[in-house]
Formats: sequence, C-alpha cells, structure tokens
Amino acid sequence: MDVTSVDEVLMCADPREWRVGDSWLAGGTVIYSYGTDITRGAPRRLLDITGAGWQPLTWHRDADGALSLEIASTCRIADLRALADDPTPGGVMRAELPGLDLIPPVCDSFVASWKIWHVSTVGGNVATALPAGPMISLLTAWDATALILRPDGRRRRARVADLVVGPAKTRLGYGELIRSFLVPAESLRQQAAFRRISLTERGRSAALLIGRRTSEQSLRLSVTASVFRPVMLDIAADDLSAGIPPIPAADAPLDIPPIPIADAPPARRRPTVATSAGWGVGGQVGRRRGESAVRGESVARGSRAVRADAAAWRTAIDVAAGRWYDDIHGEPEWRRRMTHRLGDEILAELLPGVATGVDDAVGRVTGDLRMERTTA
Ligand SMILES: Cc1cc2nc3c(=O)[nH]c(=O)nc-3n(C[C@H](O)[C@H](O)[C@H](O)COP(=O)(O)OP(=O)(O)OC[C@H]3O[C@@H](n4cnc5c(N)ncnc54)[C@H](O)[C@@H]3O)c2cc1C
Repeated sequence: MDVTSVDEVLMCADPREWRVGDSWLAGGTVIYSYGTDITRGAPRRLLDITGAGWQPLTWHRDADGALSLEIASTCRIADLRALADDPTPGGVMRAELPGLDLIPPVCDSFVASWKIWHVSTVGGNVATALPAGPMISLLTAWDATALILRPDGRRRRARVADLVVGPAKTRLGYGELIRSFLVPAESLRQQAAFRRISLTERGRSAALLIGRRTSEQSLRLSVTASVFRPVMLDIAADDLSAGIPPIPAADAPLDIPPIPIADAPPARRRPTVATSAGWGVGGQVGRRRGESAVRGESVARGSRAVRADAAAWRTAIDVAAGRWYDDIHGEPEWRRRMTHRLGDEILAELLPGVATGVDDAVGRVTGDLRMERTTA
C-alpha cells in the first residue's frame, strides 16, 4: 500500500537527524500494510534504518567471562529463527542454552509467510507493540533490555517488558531509536516452558505464556497477547515467596555493562521502492483502553513472589492484568480462562512436586504450537 503522506525517504539510522513528522522504517511490514505509522500517525519522511549495517546477532563476553546475546533491532525474524539451529551458539554447545528452544515456537507465533519473516524485524515488532507481538513475548520472557539511541546523542536502556505499555503504545519518546536488545545468558541457560492458544489453528495469538525456571523452586512467568501489555510474575514455593526480590519498577536504574556499538552511517537519500504487504488487519490493533492498559502494572512490579499454587497465581494474574484484551481474536473472558489454564500447565511442568493445585494440568499441553527440546 502507498504511504501517501510521505514526501521523502532517507537511509538514516541517526536520531540526531530526526525531526517532527519522521518515522523510522525497518522492514515496512506494518507501515506499508496500514499505509501509515500506527504508533505515531501519518509520516512525512521515512528514515530507513536497514542500511545501518548492524550485525543481526552478536555474542558478548564480559570481563568475568559471562556471556550475553545482543540482537540488533534490524535483525530479521528469519535471522533469529536460524539461531535456534546453530550447533554452537556463542561458542558453547547448543544444549547448554535450552532457552533458545523458545525461538521456533515464538517465530511460528508470528503468523506470516517466509517473505514476511525475511523483511520484518525484531525491533519493528517491539516498537509496534501489538499484544500478539511474539518478539515482545520472547524478549520479555528472556528479561531482555533495549538499548535506545536518543535525538540528543545520548543512550538509555529499558526493559522490553517496561517499554511496551499498551496496543501500539510504547515508552519510546519522539525520535528515539531502538538499537538492539541485550539478553543475559542466564535466561538462555534456564529451562523454559511455552504455551500459546489461538481461536484458529495457526491464527493470531490470543494468549501466549512463557515460564522460565529461575531455581528448583521458582519460575518467572510472562504473559502476553491476552493482556494489554506484558505482565510478569515471579512464582515460588511457599517458603521462598517472601524472600525473592520484586521485579524492578520501570524507572529503576539498570546495572548492565556497556556494549560496543558501531556508529551509524550518515543519512543519504534512498530511492523509493514500491513495496506492498497485504495483511488482513481488521481488529488487530484492537480497542484502545488507555488507562486500563497499565492499571495492573504496579501490582505486578511491586509485589513479591506469588505462591506456587493455582489459586494464588490466578488471583495475582487477574489483579496484574487489570482487564483482558478484547479484539476479533478472542473474547476477554475466554482469554482469561485460557491464561489460567496455560499457566497451570507451565507450573505443573516447571515446578513438579512444588506447585500445588495444578494436578489436573500435569502432562497436559494445550495449544497449537509445540516447543521441541534440545537434548545434550
Ligand atoms: C502477513 C503478516 C502477518 C503479521 N503477523 C503479525 C503477528 O502475528 N504479530 C505481530 O505482532 N505482528 C504481525 N505482523 C506485523 C509486522 O510484520 C510485525 O510487527 C513486524 O515485526 C514489524 O517489523 P517491521 O520491521 O516490518 O516494522 P516497520 O513496519 O518497519 O515499522 C513498524 C513500526 O516500528 C517502528 N520502528 C521500526 N523499527 C524501529 C526501531 N529500531 N526503533 C524504533 N522504532 C522502530 C516504525 O517507525 C513503525 O512505527 C504481521 C504482518 C504481516 C504483513
């Protein structure tokens, strides 16, 4: 579709060049399919960041030898999917990083053809902030942080879970550009469980839950698609639930080592290429319910770990969610019940013998997508 408001398209990944009326352009699969920028309104200029030359995937080791994965915002879905098949990611044996097993089902949750997978980007998915944004689900579950370049030349970091605040709404300020996402290797080393449900087989996600076992007796659960914004809960055995530190608030300082970043090349004129992406988007963005999108935030973020019990965690997620997302891909009450069901399954899978009230969920795998585990 033409973006008829646009006068100029530049190759530019430098926020200092950004001015009012500009939109960053990555794969263009949202901008061209809607014919506008659904996060900011009709753009006058598009700043195409795909020529920045950023390495899609980079492994870092800090002075103590700790590994982390940097995913460029311009990393395409297809590049990320290929990482799951790397036999020695970051120079370690693949089986040492079971968290990478999440990549295939998460990419499959991106219900699109290989053509879309080869142009759309991880950063574009996060910045669009749709509830069914599978990259948001993955990066939230991995506790990833975004590195953000600002128009004043400075940089800041934000947790992906905090960056997304509602359908098509983020905490990105005007002109801010996501450079990359940093994933701690600890998240990749921990065992994970994945559940997703959709009204139709391989349809848009109506609820997507990922659990990550943070210890023998605790897990971190992230809920997306059924809620307006990502919701995270720490769930732990009774005797641990008072001792686990709360998930930090959005404005808490981040203690993350600096990572090297290649300088962006200077802005240059880009020849306009006719691109068209047909995407049935009716109801995709859903109704905006502004305030309700963040109502549960303080409850989820300020709380201690929830007891690993079906009734306890279900109450906690109801409070944290505030309201359940409502669009053509599922009724709110159905999404709530599915979230409860899938969450019980994750508790039963990751905390066997620890979680209570989830006996019915033992061995049950609800949903249309499966997580294949890599064995040692
Ligand atoms: C057939 C089809 C199926 C799809 N299925 C899904 C789905 O299941 N779930 C889903 O969430 N989406 C889906 N999408 C939408 C879209 O493809 C994805 O959200 C995709 O990841 C967007 O990436 P992009 O690079 O194409 O973004 P673009 O269209 O280039 O940009 C989208 C928005 O992000 C901003 N942006 C891009 N990169 C950055 C950055 N680095 N920093 C700051 N802002 C940035 C842009 O300014 C714009 O506002 C689908 C699209 C199609 C065509």
